[in-house]
Amino acid sequence: MAEKDYYDILGVSKDASQDEIKKAYRKLSKKYHPDINKEPGAEQKFKDVNEAYETVGDEQKRSQYDQYGSAGPQGQGFGGGGQGQGFGGFGGGGGFDDIFSQFFGGGSRQRDPSAPTPGRDLQYNMTLKFEEAIFGKETTIKYNRQAQCETCGGNGAKPGTSPTTCHKCGGRGVIDVVQNTPLGRMRSQQTCDVCGGTGKEIKEKCETCGGSGHVSQRHELKVNVPAGVDDGQQMRLQNQGEAGDNGGPYGDLYIVFRVTPSREFKRDGSDIFFDQRISFAQAALGDEIQVKTVHGDVKLKVPAGTQTETKFRLRGKGAPKLNGNGIGDEHVTVHVQTPKNLNKRQKEALAAFAAAGGEKVAGIKKNVFDKLKDAFDD
Ligand SMILES: [Zn+2]
Ligand SMILES: [Zn+2]
Repeated sequence: MAEKDYYDILGVSKDASQDEIKKAYRKLSKKYHPDINKEPGAEQKFKDVNEAYETVGDEQKRSQYDQYGSAGPQGQGFGGGGQGQGFGGFGGGGGFDDIFSQFFGGGSRQRDPSAPTPGRDLQYNMTLKFEEAIFGKETTIKYNRQAQCETCGGNGAKPGTSPTTCHKCGGRGVIDVVQNTPLGRMRSQQTCDVCGGTGKEIKEKCETCGGSGHVSQRHELKVNVPAGVDDGQQMRLQNQGEAGDNGGPYGDLYIVFRVTPSREFKRDGSDIFFDQRISFAQAALGDEIQVKTVHGDVKLKVPAGTQTETKFRLRGKGAPKLNGNGIGDEHVTVHVQTPKNLNKRQKEALAAFAAAGGEKVAGIKKNVFDKLKDAFDD
């Protein structure tokens, strides 16, 4: 069988979203529907569009198709139980005809097209400020989705009427096609051209949704971002995705959080890390300093003789753990600053400090020494 480019047929790019594929399919299947379009070639196009949508409109079949190039309805017989049954035909002594009919027909049970199917899940990326992720927030988000049409309740028929079982396929959504080939008669299945695979015929279409049972909706939703969420985490909101088919439930919405980094704090789970500069005098003599935390400034006692890179822990000053499991800590690393651009008095004081410790420092200039000498000589 010649390889068809399903994306080409639907006129979408290879990385089109399911939403775009669905929209393209709706548009084209309406355009080429045999009831509407009597032009030659329209029916074949309608079939192609349906075949393409059956594959790329289904997440699983689509990824198979992207990988292997074909996963059309004809391929189904090769999966799962279909294969076993197909090969069973050899032992039974049946002809080629039997084998093929089992492969393409009996070997694989088509899913009932009128069975309730859940709607698609959607993803929403939410960017949070560093503090918003820590403390959580209440916000309202807006996004587009396919909602169930309220006029017809999702069945696509004009109120007062209801869809009927397709007269051509009897509700199966597929029809058998028999072809004569050198190997014998080959039977295969194609999407029913009357119902487009839905198994239903709608004589009078709902005017709101045009028979699809779905309407595009700008959906508004209140979201409580829990305190303590982290970059990359996601939250599932049940039934906030797209409407299902045949009365199936709505899909879910996945909110994926992106947390903007902070200039001052680093975060690892519920632990927060902070760098604090202290002076040489504070480190040597000890001090009580104010340290920034996401919960406000906190006092920290720096003991005398603190070395640079010493770490302190401020308990309970980190990010909350999800599900109310307490709060993490803030880890403070102190960086002792070597004084720069000393003024005269500072130089003298440091020189005196060095001398008092019996230290010989080459950086001490002659004139400073002379002064010191004078001072000691007095
Ligand atoms: Zn409707
Ligand atoms: Zn049909």
